[in-house]
Amino acid sequence: MPQALTPRYWTVRSSSIHNRGIFASRDIPNDTPIIEYVGEKITKAESTRRGNALVEKAKKTGCAAVYVFTLNQRYDIDGAKGRNPARYINHSCDPNCDAYIIRGRIWIYSLRDIKAGEELTYNYSFDVDTWDEHPCRCGSKRCVGYIVEEKQWPKLLRKLQKLEKDAKKGKLKLNDHGDVSSTKGRKVAVKKKVASKKR
Ligand SMILES: [Zn+2]
Repeated sequence: MPQALTPRYWTVRSSSIHNRGIFASRDIPNDTPIIEYVGEKITKAESTRRGNALVEKAKKTGCAAVYVFTLNQRYDIDGAKGRNPARYINHSCDPNCDAYIIRGRIWIYSLRDIKAGEELTYNYSFDVDTWDEHPCRCGSKRCVGYIVEEKQWPKLLRKLQKLEKDAKKGKLKLNDHGDVSSTKGRKVAVKKKVASKKR
């Protein structure tokens, strides 16, 4: 288990990607545990309930920030409340960090050497089914325009190409993904780790 880190590697500042972000307060070597993602442990059913409530809220307020993180097959971690500065880490399509589950805890690790002052990011890895709810403004050269797990980028691109083709033919289907007014049977966006790490 990674130890509590002193002095810490990070600081919270306003971000050009979105709102607040987490920045490297000093140089961080590759493969370093930087910060733990903490929160309330909730069941999958509760996670889905909160996810659906968020979709409803987003329709009214436009704010769709997701703080629920997949822990294992039975539980998720909701990092929305309480002291969880890791929730300020923004998504990027070309991230410098990644999330790992280590003995039931979520840790954010550097994916490469990071210079002091760089913003820390990881891929939130949302399911492609929720793509249209989460446009991406990460600004990286690799940006695919939406917050989607990299494994599912080919599927996302096929969806986007199909929409474009339909638009050219004059039969633009705005609700290609299904009826947004109903959340029934629709997946909710949850953050996911990408890889496993043995420690
Ligand atoms: Zn992006």
